Amino acid sequence: MEKKAATPDNIKCKDLEIPLTRKELKNLFNYRIPCLCCGKEMLHPDIYMKLSEEKSLGGKASEAIKILEPFEKIMHPVERQVFNMLKGMSQKYPDKNFKELLLLKKDVHELALVKIQSSIFNKISFYRRILPKKSARHLRKLMINTNDIIFDPQPHKPFSRRIFIHKLKNILKNIENKKLKDEILEIARRLPRSSDEVCAFVVKNSRKRPEVIALDLIHPSVGTFEHLTPKCMKGLSNSLNFALECSYCNNSRHHYPISVQIEENPYMPHNAQIQADKLICLSKKGLCKKEYIENLREVLYWLSDRGLDLDISKLYIFE
Ligand SMILES: [Zn+2]
Repeated sequence: MEKKAATPDNIKCKDLEIPLTRKELKNLFNYRIPCLCCGKEMLHPDIYMKLSEEKSLGGKASEAIKILEPFEKIMHPVERQVFNMLKGMSQKYPDKNFKELLLLKKDVHELALVKIQSSIFNKISFYRRILPKKSARHLRKLMINTNDIIFDPQPHKPFSRRIFIHKLKNILKNIENKKLKDEILEIARRLPRSSDEVCAFVVKNSRKRPEVIALDLIHPSVGTFEHLTPKCMKGLSNSLNFALECSYCNNSRHHYPISVQIEENPYMPHNAQIQADKLICLSKKGLCKKEYIENLREVLYWLSDRGLDLDISKLYIFE
């Protein structure tokens, strides 16, 4: 989707002072700030760093569960479901680690995943009838190779959604009919990701080390600094251009404009308001500078083509 994004020039932030240092901004994660985009509570990145040093996460599942349990309530939905599945299994197999437990479930989840994937691939293959000959031939080849991977119980290289979509984009790049192109890519984007389907999480993570599986259960919740104007579009790397977002939302946005992020996350304006209200509360306690909130409002407003208009009037009400 090509949308005109606002540039740092029309945000008029050139002469503004940087409202918060990185340290001050990071400090806000101590106060259960909800993600700007999905609204879920975020984990302080330093707590995550400490957890990543925990050796026991790679040991028996029962030990790893004890360490992760305090974070269960901030896990994202798929991760929480997998965590609960692991909890249940660890009672039956007390000596196994996370990887061994996921391997026990791999076959059944892989079957479920392949079912979803193949129905999407069928839909994509249908377009061979409409595409120009050369593209149709390339598409046929891609689909044959992909089917070989997903129907092989031990493929040389596992299926990668990202690589598949990349190859598909290449095949479609010379197609002039934009609507058709978008339609095919939209179908491909429905391919399950480990972040939105338990079966995809189990299959993908059963290949990882047990301690990595444990960390992946909480990683989406880790708080990050999101570049509002992406770095690749010369966005600044300071609090004039940083918003607090969970690692999942930050990674899913890539370098798309905020307006596209809102299209994909219709509750984002609502969630951004909740974050702003929380920041206003903190500013009244002297924990967040009001200039940061004012700048955030302004930048979001312009970058979203006026679609995200935070109400920060409470910032000026003194009780
Ligand atoms: Zn989020």
